[in-house]
Amino acid sequence: MIPFLDLKEINQQYHQELKDACSRVIDSGWYIMGNELKAFEQEFSEYCDSKYCIGVANGLDALILTLRAWKELGKLNDGDEVIVPSNTYIASILAISENNLTPVLVEPDINTFNLTADGIKSAITGKTKVILPVHLYGQISPMKEIMNLAKKHDLLVLEDCAQSHGAMIDGKKAGTWGDAGAFSFYPGKNLGALGDAGAVTTDDEELLEVLSALLNYGSHEKYKNKYKGVNSRLDEIQAAMLRVKLKHLDRETKARQAVAKQYLDGIKNPLIELPEVSNVEGHVWHLFVIKNKYRETLQKYLSDNGVQTLIHYPIPPHKQGAYEEWSDMDFPVSEELHKEVLSLPIQPNANISNTAYVICLLNEFMV
Ligand SMILES: *Cc1c(COP(=O)(O)O)cnc(C)c1O
Repeated sequence: MIPFLDLKEINQQYHQELKDACSRVIDSGWYIMGNELKAFEQEFSEYCDSKYCIGVANGLDALILTLRAWKELGKLNDGDEVIVPSNTYIASILAISENNLTPVLVEPDINTFNLTADGIKSAITGKTKVILPVHLYGQISPMKEIMNLAKKHDLLVLEDCAQSHGAMIDGKKAGTWGDAGAFSFYPGKNLGALGDAGAVTTDDEELLEVLSALLNYGSHEKYKNKYKGVNSRLDEIQAAMLRVKLKHLDRETKARQAVAKQYLDGIKNPLIELPEVSNVEGHVWHLFVIKNKYRETLQKYLSDNGVQTLIHYPIPPHKQGAYEEWSDMDFPVSEELHKEVLSLPIQPNANISNTAYVICLLNEFMV
């Protein structure tokens, strides 16, 4: 079986380094808010080229707490509108509703899967306060156009970078275009911890200050609580694991790009629609997503021939039980995507002949 993603194999390559880092934490006697976190925050902000990075417990919290911090700073109020893609992973939307803000779903470009400036523009109202672009599958959204629009309408921009570590456009990385970037280090992400973890990147010191309190019970100073905060800390063990993985991220990204190129060059079946790449160097290929009208048949055919694929995502957010109130709304682009997308195996240590085999199967696929 060619697995979709073999995390065990990926992490085993770094077994000794990870073990050493783990021992370092065990022997330090300090397990929360210590030197590993500080070092990781420094290293990740250098990697992204943001002024600051602050660790949190997971990617959803990175989104939730950033919006929450803007509320605490008086920049947002209950009911304000946040523009978000209609085809995103539900976490981007949960973060908005969790803050009593109003998600405004906007259709993506059907070929790049991302928001466009035109799509966003047509959804801006007097209540719009935030644009939340999601750099889906590893490809960054058209940030120059989005930032121009944000400037013109005085909107905040929160980038969902959970799938786009190191992705860039015009030489500038995801998480440094907007007012803040929210990252997830869930194990299967391009930069994955060995458990849950997340972070926010920003150049805004004021935002950093509020976030640092919110994630720690709302406290800047022990036993003094300015906000009704939460506990959302990135622990020392995960920070230490991430420091090891970060050193290998660029090499892993290059390997993902090589697999993607092999697919793009090799797949020649008119039944299969390849993903549109708007900028080749900047795409970090968290997922390689094709479109096919006969997706279920194709998925079964690949599985029968020993290739595991996944669907990101099978149900659009507006058809989820959690958002019953949207069930009558129409998002035809998103609905079509959710019917047709299929994610092929892609991982940094994929082997060329396995990928060639998948390509061969795809080229022989008929209905
Ligand atoms: C994974 C993901 C999240 C949530 O990250 P967690 O660390 O799992 O909470 C948010 N947005 C997108 C687009 C994601 O892919």
